[in-house]
Order: sequence, then structure tokens, then C-alpha cells
Amino acid sequence: MEGLDVRTLALTNLLLGLFLGISSFVFARMHPSFRGFRSLGYSYFLLSFGFVLLGLRQYIADSLSIIVANFVIVFGFSLLILGILRFLKCDKHVFEKIYPVLLVVMLISFVYFTYVQNNVNARMIIASAILAGLSCYAGYKVITNENRKMFTFTRLLGFSFFCCTFILILRVYFALVGPNVENFMEAGGIHAMSLISLQFVTITSCFALTISASQQLAQKLAVQATIDSLTNIYNRRAFDEFAQKSVMRAQREQSPISIILMDIDLFKQVNDKYGHQVGDKVLQEFSARLKNSLRQYDILARYGGEEFTLLLPDTSTKTAMIIAEKLRDTIAQPVFYLEGEKQLSVTASFGVATNKGESIDWQQLISFADQALYQAKASGRNCVKLHSAEVHVMTNIEKQH
Ligand code: GH3
Ligand code: MG
Ligand code: MG
Repeated sequence: MEGLDVRTLALTNLLLGLFLGISSFVFARMHPSFRGFRSLGYSYFLLSFGFVLLGLRQYIADSLSIIVANFVIVFGFSLLILGILRFLKCDKHVFEKIYPVLLVVMLISFVYFTYVQNNVNARMIIASAILAGLSCYAGYKVITNENRKMFTFTRLLGFSFFCCTFILILRVYFALVGPNVENFMEAGGIHAMSLISLQFVTITSCFALTISASQQLAQKLAVQATIDSLTNIYNRRAFDEFAQKSVMRAQREQSPISIILMDIDLFKQVNDKYGHQVGDKVLQEFSARLKNSLRQYDILARYGGEEFTLLLPDTSTKTAMIIAEKLRDTIAQPVFYLEGEKQLSVTASFGVATNKGESIDWQQLISFADQALYQAKASGRNCVKLHSAEVHVMTNIEKQH
């Protein structure tokens, strides 16, 4: 610890703070939806400014290198915690009330222990105790945060806050029991350690928050890429991926797999008569009704416009036809969308195709279902049709419905 003099540490803190501060502001500008990065940026700048003032002891006035420096460091540390609380969407009302009080207490006591009774130990005890309290509070809030599942680096950040708390408490202890320090610049190991622990918190906070933010962005992008925003079910892109994998697996395992393609009947008329917004509501209600009838492994997707598709792994033609008929009935239930005077029912046509382990690809299976759907439309709509290759097998089942 002998080589770790306070002035060198103050300089490295300055460089670190400037670099992290600029990065946080750039991040806040690029991603304004994430809260807290601006506070973080200010806090890094304040911390580095405070450490510069601290390192200039003996070259500048004591009022700057002692009082302003410590005030700025504690203020910067408070802003760091505020930024983290904002990012985590934690309740920060208590903290917003406490930290200004602590700043005022520190300012008054620092003026007293500098000008009235010059006591380096007393100042170290006060600053360290306040920083330890803040750090412990931050560690507790980070660890107990409800959103911690989405925040992978919670533990690392919490750990760094608790380490910092521990070292600052040790510093309070040594300042209490140790000899009176005449010159802060030669205060020794534990004091240098407390500056390092503050650096540690600075680095981990920036690291943890940016990594967590990028994880959230990645999750959001993944959702946007696979989910249809109007109906909240899978989009065509996601369905194609599932279908490709599932059809290949079914072939490998020699198990049947079915696809149901559905298209709302005369939907253009709904739009023309009631408007596009009502049309959208109908699409939402349509998918909600389908969703409620799904089994665990079924995959429902909006395949385009008013066309939906359902992938049924491990499902025979017979079961697929029964499911399609059930869905047809569910959709045809009256009062599809009700708002004031607007009451309407819609129907849909269904095309079913099954692969019983033959070596056809998923696109071929979908085109079979599409052909069956075309037949359903041609037969007067509001009905279920099976791809022609299966019709002879299904004659009896169709008779039942
Ligand atoms: P058919 O029974 O033969 O399927 O007749 P249809 O009117 O349903 O078929 P058509 O292809 O002529 O019209 C489909 C309509 O679906 C036209 C289009 O405006 C509407 N549509 C497609 N996507 C949306 C959407 O996201 N919202 C709304 N409101 N309408 C949509
Ligand atoms: Mg249609
Ligand atoms: Mg259509």
C-alpha cells in the first residue's frame, strides 16, 4: 500500500471519471428510454472533479481541497446511487430526502473541523461514515431490487457496494483508534484502499448498467423480430422458423405434424363497413379466441393480413380436423366486437394439411394447407377443408361435422 499515494489515485480517478462520464452521456443520448445514465454521467464528472481537488492539497486553498472536494465527492456518490435507482426503477423518494441532509451535515462539520478545530481524523470519520451509509443503502437497494431478474450484474454491483462499505467502516475504525493524521496525503494504506473501493464502485456501476441495458435491448429486439405487434402472437418470420424445425423433427421421429391455415371471410367488407380500426379490433379478438383454444405445444402465428396459421406438432389428420372445426365454431360465435352500435360476427375458412413423416419440406406442407384453404373459400367459406391427398382418408370424419 506504500506505493499507492493519494495523489496518484486521485489522478487515475480523474481519468476514469472523465471517460465513464462521457460514455454515460453518449449512452443516455443514444438510448433515452433508459433512465439514470445522465445522473451517472454527472456523478462520474463530479467524482473526478472532487478527486482532482483532493489531489491538489497543499497547492490550492484548504477550502477547495478539503471542504469543496469532499462535498463534491459525496454529492457525486449520491448522484451515482440516484442514477442506479432510476435505472432500476426503484422508489427513490426516501433517498432524495436523505442525501441533501447528509450533505449539509457534512458541510457544517467540515467547516468546523477545518477552521474552528483542525482535525484530519474527525473529517475522515465523518466523510467515510456518510459514504459508508450511502454505499450500504445502495447495495441493499440493488440486491433487493424487484427487477433483478433482468439485471444480471446485480450481484457484482451489490458486492462492490458492500466491499466499499466495509472498507469505509474500517477507515472510520482506524481513524478513531489510530494516531492523529497530520497530513492527509500521507494517511496510508486504508485511506488509499477507500479511494480504490470508490473506483471499484465507479467501474462496476457503469459496467453493470450498460451491460444490463444492452441485454434489455437485445430482448426487446428479439420480441420485435418474432411477435406481431397488433395481435401479440408470433409473426410469419417466427412461424417459418418453428415450422421448418418442427417439420424436420417430425420427419426424423416419424411422427405426424399438421398445419391449419385460416383466413377471415370477407374481411374487406368489415373494413369498408366499420372502418379500419374496428377491423384491427376484430383481428385482435380473432387471435385472442384462437389463443384460448390452444394446447401447450401448438404454435399460432399471424401469417399476414387477415390470415393466421397454426402448427400442431404430433397431431394426426383426424385430430387436426377436429381442432380446426372447433376453432371454426369458436370464431363464428356471435357478437365478435361490440362497441356502442357496432355489433358484428365474422367467420373464417380453414385449410388443413398433415405430414405423416414423408420427406416433404415445411413450405410444401404450408402450400398444401393453402390449397385446402382455397377449396374452403370456393365451397362457400365458413368451413374446414383438408388437403386433397388426404380427403379419401378423412371422408368419415368430415361426415361427422
Ligand atoms: P375472402 O373471404 O375471400 O378472404 O375475402 P376478404 O375480403 O377477406 O379478402 P381480401 O383479400 O379481399 O381482403 C383482405 C382484407 O384484409 C383487405 C385488407 O384491407 C384487410 N387487412 C389486411 N391486414 C389488415 C390489418 O392489419 N388491419 C385491418 N383492419 N385490415 C387488414
Ligand atoms: Mg379473407
Ligand atoms: Mg386473405
